[in-house]
Amino acid sequence: GSDDEGPSEISAEELAVVPEAELPTVVIIGRPNVGKSTLFNRVVGSQQAIVEDRPGITRDRKVLEASWLEVPFLVVDTGGWMPGGDALEEKVSRQVEEAVRDADVVLFVVDASVGLTDDDQTIANWVRRSGRDVIIVANKADNERRETDRWEFLGLGLGDPVPVSALHGRRAGDLLDVVISRFSEEARHRPVADDDDRFYEEAEDWDADEIKPPRVAIVGRPNVGKSTLFNRLVGEDRAVVHDMAGTTRDSIDTLVETEDGPMVFIDTAGMRRKGKIDDSAEYYSLVRALRSIDDADVALLVIDGTEGVTSQDQRLAERIDASGCPILIVLNKWELVSTEDRLDVMTELERKLGFVGDVPVLKISALTGKNVHSLRPHLQESIAQYHTRVPTRDINKIIAAAQQRAPAPKGAKILYAVQGAIDPPTFTLFVNREVQSTYLRYIERTIREEFGLGSTAIKIRVRKKS
Ligand code: GDP
Ligand code: GDP
Repeated sequence: GSDDEGPSEISAEELAVVPEAELPTVVIIGRPNVGKSTLFNRVVGSQQAIVEDRPGITRDRKVLEASWLEVPFLVVDTGGWMPGGDALEEKVSRQVEEAVRDADVVLFVVDASVGLTDDDQTIANWVRRSGRDVIIVANKADNERRETDRWEFLGLGLGDPVPVSALHGRRAGDLLDVVISRFSEEARHRPVADDDDRFYEEAEDWDADEIKPPRVAIVGRPNVGKSTLFNRLVGEDRAVVHDMAGTTRDSIDTLVETEDGPMVFIDTAGMRRKGKIDDSAEYYSLVRALRSIDDADVALLVIDGTEGVTSQDQRLAERIDASGCPILIVLNKWELVSTEDRLDVMTELERKLGFVGDVPVLKISALTGKNVHSLRPHLQESIAQYHTRVPTRDINKIIAAAQQRAPAPKGAKILYAVQGAIDPPTFTLFVNREVQSTYLRYIERTIREEFGLGSTAIKIRVRKKS
């Protein structure tokens, strides 16, 4: 009984309970049928398994925790908004009002395939008065033409509409970059709860044994032609069979059925159209582009052939190289480069990007489609090399032969070797004493040649056997 205890000391257990920080709240509103629920599901996507039931929430208001780039927040789906009307509608509207009052960011969804309606106007007038931070989401922008339809909604006077296709995931990542950029500084730097991480680690373990389709990231500076290439490779609207939430929670992936089997194209932020948003959103899109590299089995580094290799291209190449992800260099807009300039571009490329090694360089025109088909075999090869698994017996045979041809200096010996990991192929060498790095490079070269590893990164680890 707690009655007779009076004011007691706080137990250690109680002290350990840190009050739950209030998460920023994103509320989705809009007239019926514009795609609010679809957007809600898209945003919470892979988080579905960590649904929390929050008390005091009526059936009409769904709340889930979501996160983007490790910034956690709550998403509220307000169901159908019905302006004016009968008692039931008023009740729903009151709920929407309450939700909006608590919102940090309001996503006001409109339908780009229908255009501006009177109901949209009514909602706009009301939400403007609420004084909340509003983002107009032009949904059902399923293709580029629809994207341009969004400008009609500028008339609502609530800023630049952000186009998205909630159904297909198109540009959903760009929208989320904007959303979290609107949060307070504090909210943006709050780490996602540990539980989440644990959940995702487990989820990763769980499907580690499944054969997953290879993941391709298309990276490059703005305007080099990434979207154009993406559409070429995917065949706009045609080949997309399924969208899925990204495994890292930072990407919305497109699974494409290609002639070479299924492939996942990672929606890297760089694929965005030029609708300049703000610096903070730009920052998040960069973070995301970099993460997509860590998550990819191969990265297409797209370079504008008419501009040659810039320092930004070099930095991106460095970053990909450091992650161990195989690179294919794509020199795009090649049809615009004059015959006399072509040699110069290639010489410059060798000089400035030589550090990534002997990677394939493909000269294409994403716009006309010329040579785009040449990418496919290279993609396949890079992916295969990245995933190479060498039988222990074979690797030891190769290393024994290499040592016979040229023994390591100073009595050093590699006693045994195993491949400890793939993606990239990683080998552990057990040695009797320290082996010179030049000799290790010789061994690496031998492994690379014998097993046809091309230009894929190889990691060599050395362990001294005691
Ligand atoms: P809500 O009433 O605003 O919650 O709308 P729903 O999410 O229920 O969506 C209404 C309809 O629009 C459904 O048939 C959805 O499949 C469809 N829809 C939602 N988003 C998109 C989209 O991005 N593109 C297309 N073409 N249809 C969509
Ligand atoms: P992103 O910002 O990297 O996604 O670049 P986009 O795909 O949006 O392309 C930027 C501009 O370059 C667009 O106007 C494209 O039409 C154009 N573009 C893309 N690829 C080529 C190409 O191979 N040749 C030419 N001439 N223009 C291209």
